[in-house]
Amino acid sequence: MTVCKFGGSSLADDAQIRKVRAILEADSSRTIAVVSAPGKRNADDEKVTDMLYECNALAQQNRSCRHVFDNIARRYIDIAKGLKLDTVKLAAALDEIRQNIDAGRGTDYAASRGEYLSARIMASYLGWEFIDAAECIVINGDGTVNPLSYERLAGRLEEGGHYVIPGFYGANEQGVVKTFSRGGSDISGAIVARAAGADLYENWTDVSGMYAADPRIVKDAKVIEELTYTQVRELSDVGASVFHEEAIAPVIEKGIAINIRNTNAPEDPGTMIRPSSEKKGIIGVSAKGGYSKLKLRKLMMFKRPGMRHAMLTMLHLYGVRPSFSFFGIDSIVWYFESGQANDSVLKSMVERLKKDFQLDYAYYERDHAMLGIVGGHLDDDTSFITACAALKEAGIRINNVNYGSSNTTTLIGVNDSDAKRAVEVIYKALF
Ligand code: ADP
Ligand code: ASP
Ligand code: MG
Repeated sequence: MTVCKFGGSSLADDAQIRKVRAILEADSSRTIAVVSAPGKRNADDEKVTDMLYECNALAQQNRSCRHVFDNIARRYIDIAKGLKLDTVKLAAALDEIRQNIDAGRGTDYAASRGEYLSARIMASYLGWEFIDAAECIVINGDGTVNPLSYERLAGRLEEGGHYVIPGFYGANEQGVVKTFSRGGSDISGAIVARAAGADLYENWTDVSGMYAADPRIVKDAKVIEELTYTQVRELSDVGASVFHEEAIAPVIEKGIAINIRNTNAPEDPGTMIRPSSEKKGIIGVSAKGGYSKLKLRKLMMFKRPGMRHAMLTMLHLYGVRPSFSFFGIDSIVWYFESGQANDSVLKSMVERLKKDFQLDYAYYERDHAMLGIVGGHLDDDTSFITACAALKEAGIRINNVNYGSSNTTTLIGVNDSDAKRAVEVIYKALF
């Protein structure tokens, strides 16, 4: 059987939802749908999840969220009317949710309601059974999936049954609603695919697969026909946001294939993601901005066992968790997401690092990006030299390079303001 996850654009309005039904009905092996909250209907539109976060922020300031919530309610009512569904129960559910948000049920509860309502509507439209993710998906304190989820879900799913399950959220072991990080419905889909023993996990979105470069940057980028779990994880980790980088983990052990497909062009084959591939060469390039960079140096640093670990522990105390590391003989560069700490926190952290570890220097810089060139057997491939030459030719400064430590990805640190152009330039040079 096949588990199908539909992203926000596939649920954006009643016309999109009709396409979803046609897709589900076109193949009898598609018996479980995992759904996101309604996304944008056009470039100027708002995602329901963003509006729910806004409602919660208002409630936290003891202000009523009613004016924002009314827009959310209208979206769902319009969808239900468009699908010719009864709106009485829906209106009551919306009212109850607004009151709960106003009463301070918290961020995760508020954010989760987008998926909850989508799944309720979808279940009645299809005549399939609704399963509340809060009853089955257990999320640990650190945001990872608790393996209990697989047992609980499997206990609810009967062979031959048809189900709609909301994505993005579950509950902690105490039963309190908790969400994954943004884009987390991809993770929910993977969890459900594993629990259901699916042969295939279809991830339906608004593009015909994973492209060799972000289609918003490179207009004529080509779709990647096939890639491995590792490649898709590493590409999404550097910004290829079509598939959440944590959504691979649940399906790896069972080797379930993933197919990224386009709800607006269901005839397109999309991208197949499989456990492994012998293919060599470059498959994609992507960049992710919004990083800050911490630079440290101390003579003979690496002669002191435990020092790097102790510094990382200190970083964690300040809320800084590096995503990428580059090591020199006596120096370290750590890239971390800029949102993790404000300037005053970082200034104190740097002072403390300097003092406690007697560093020769320590400082941080904002506005960095990390670019990844992803492929197979890249530790045995010199195309990254071509990429560097193309960047130099385009006058783009390279800040850091990591080649050879992964056979899947070569990392190139560039300034945030150069990131998009760097993707374009490298795509042109390598594809
Ligand atoms: P969904 O709501 O269906 O989960 P997302 O917005 O999360 O969809 O992901 C789809 C979007 O990802 C595309 O519309 C595209 O703009 C963006 N994207 C970024 N990089 C890539 C890439 N390399 N290939 C395809 N899409 C990409
Ligand atoms: N609706 C959530 C978000 O916007 C989760 C998802 O779409 O996957 O992040
Ligand atoms: Mg997504």
